[in-house]
Amino acid sequence: GSAPVGDAVRPRPPISFELFPPRTDAAALALGRTIDRLAEVDPAFISVTFGAGGSSRDRSLTVLRYMLEHTDVEPMAHLTCVGSSHAEANRLVREFLDAGITSFLALRGDPPEGADPEAGIGDLRSAAELVQLIHRVQEEREPYGQAGIPGIPGATRIRERPRPERVAVAAFPTGHPRSRGFGQDIDVLLAKEVAGANLAITQLFWHADDYLGFVERARAGGVTIPILPGIMPVTTPARLARLEQLTGVPAPSELAIPLEIEPDADALFELGVDFAAALAAEVLADAPGLHLYTFNRHEAVLAVLDRLGLRTIPAHAGTERNTRTR
Ligand code: FAD
Repeated sequence: GSAPVGDAVRPRPPISFELFPPRTDAAALALGRTIDRLAEVDPAFISVTFGAGGSSRDRSLTVLRYMLEHTDVEPMAHLTCVGSSHAEANRLVREFLDAGITSFLALRGDPPEGADPEAGIGDLRSAAELVQLIHRVQEEREPYGQAGIPGIPGATRIRERPRPERVAVAAFPTGHPRSRGFGQDIDVLLAKEVAGANLAITQLFWHADDYLGFVERARAGGVTIPILPGIMPVTTPARLARLEQLTGVPAPSELAIPLEIEPDADALFELGVDFAAALAAEVLADAPGLHLYTFNRHEAVLAVLDRLGLRTIPAHAGTERNTRTR
């Protein structure tokens, strides 16, 4: 949602975070503390990644359940469909809905290394198909339309479409690594919107123009859903190099070189936070909010919000709190 028109005070844009499921008990403990700290800034949601092929299913669910049980934050589950049969994908979505998760980031995921991505593995070929499946499973579980009222025989009410709350999808401002060109990235995003996605979250990008140009092309191509910029404060040269490998998005030399030559850890932290805050400030004029990749640490993302003056919710913006409806 965007700011109410005519309101003299611009409400704080929605902030959201991404986490990944921890691999050890110690990491899980630390993550609990991180979630508590992130929850204090009242994010719109916190998303939890999912290992393609389901390798992290139980660990992802544990983190999502922690949020449901210990915070007021809306948990968003990443789900991938590559390699799944229809029956498996159905079961997966049901399991998350049963756990009380109503927001999803629907992804295709990447085929196992070495596999031909165009070869037929599994039934679901694209994120758009998973978006459709999430809506279908939800409707089967809880048909909307006429519904009985428990305890009042014969009485019915119109049940509003209650869930899912959000079905988000990925977007690639600098192009998906396998995309044939900018046009295809917009077509794929539009197909996901047509399938029922109501939010897009971008892959990392390092220049405001990448995001702003992408949004412009998406709008021209008919995409109407909000496109949240995904931004990560990167505070070590090793992590920046790793991100380039993982995402295929070339690291920016104006960050890579300073990180490379800076020996002091505190100064590295400042460099990464400053870069991310400057990027966020540039896109925020046009963006519907800010999605921050945390690498499971709260310090750097909270410092970015501090730099932007977005850490605390102003008292007058009390009505802008993201209330959960369930
Ligand atoms: P899709 O939208 O289905 O397609 C991606 C690309 O594939 C398109 O841009 C296009 O180039 C090509 N393509 C799609 N359909 C067609 C078609 N019909 N014909 C030709 N080409 C086509 N991965 C994980 O494993 N777990 C995660 O938790 C996870 N979280 C992510 C979060 C975000 C915000 C982002 C941006 C990515 C995430 N990924 C995650 C990575 C993602 O799974 C990969 O980038 C994957 O390669 C594409 O997934 P998608 O949902 O974008 O796929």
